Amino acid sequence: MKCKVCRDRAVIDIRRHNAGFCKDHFLEHLTGQVAKTIKEFSMFESDDRLLVAVSGGKDSLALWDILLNLGYDATGFYLDLGIGAYSRASKDASVSFAEQRSAKLIVRSLAQEHGLTVPELSKLTGRVPCSGCGLNKRYEFNRAALEEGFDVLVTGHNLDDEVATLFGNVLHWNVDMLGRQAPVLEERALEESGTALVRKVKPLVRVAERETAAYALLRGIDYIVEECPLVEGNVQHRYKEAITLLEEASPGTKHQMYFGFLKKASHRFQQEPDGAEVVACSTCGAPTAVWDPARAAVCSFCKTKALALKRKSEGSVARPPRKRRTH
Ligand code: SF4
Ligand SMILES: [Zn+2]
Ligand SMILES: [Zn+2]
Repeated sequence: MKCKVCRDRAVIDIRRHNAGFCKDHFLEHLTGQVAKTIKEFSMFESDDRLLVAVSGGKDSLALWDILLNLGYDATGFYLDLGIGAYSRASKDASVSFAEQRSAKLIVRSLAQEHGLTVPELSKLTGRVPCSGCGLNKRYEFNRAALEEGFDVLVTGHNLDDEVATLFGNVLHWNVDMLGRQAPVLEERALEESGTALVRKVKPLVRVAERETAAYALLRGIDYIVEECPLVEGNVQHRYKEAITLLEEASPGTKHQMYFGFLKKASHRFQQEPDGAEVVACSTCGAPTAVWDPARAAVCSFCKTKALALKRKSEGSVARPPRKRRTH
């Protein structure tokens, strides 16, 4: 196969675009896809301060690399989840990328910030690891962005991630989640408490997982290849496998499902659940949804942390987590 642009030998073919690319034109193509997404969804401006959540994996490091190449003020944020050798390797990959690119990286650890790791949290609360992990990541990413004065929180969710999430949300008719599944979630500021949910954006929604892997490889980015050892039971992976089969049979299926949803259906779902009001958590001050404003509102993060720390101090554990949907 030949490169669509220069007719040189192609190193990758992208069947949904019916095109092959040589190394230079693939890197240019992918960077262009990200730049197009940022512009199309008005994700941020050139003078915004961006905080990029990095895990040491191909998606987040490739995205950080592209944003730096495009000239954005992009700082990395690595959250140590305390998942043994996996966390150590993913932290090393993030730190060495930041050093190579002379980019700023903020590192925080769940154990240091809250006295709990993801495996401990799962054991103490009985929640599947990915569920507690997701809750902690969302909370800590937002807290770091607010405390360090960033305008936008950027995550490396790619097209495969978004399609798998959409597939799961439709399969289970999670209408609240469908209302919040967008490439941009606007900032929600609470004037009275001075806190906020920062603006969140996903510039990789047009890019498939296979393409971020190829980008990272061709750019010589040393990302962590191993999967998290706690991923077993994460149903999103099974959805990804099912969708990949459909994509192989009919290239363009993923793109059609996700962008078709954004264009034709997403406006039918509301971002806030019916009857909910967003107020400040009475423990930590973070915004949280409540249905009865007369009752003290405590956010899910504070509730989960309090339960886990109580059980930790008592030396008790919950029953092993049930296998259930996690994303
Ligand atoms: S697989 Fe689950 S536990 Fe592991 S990093 Fe991802 S969300 Fe967290
Ligand atoms: Zn070419
Ligand atoms: Zn709270």
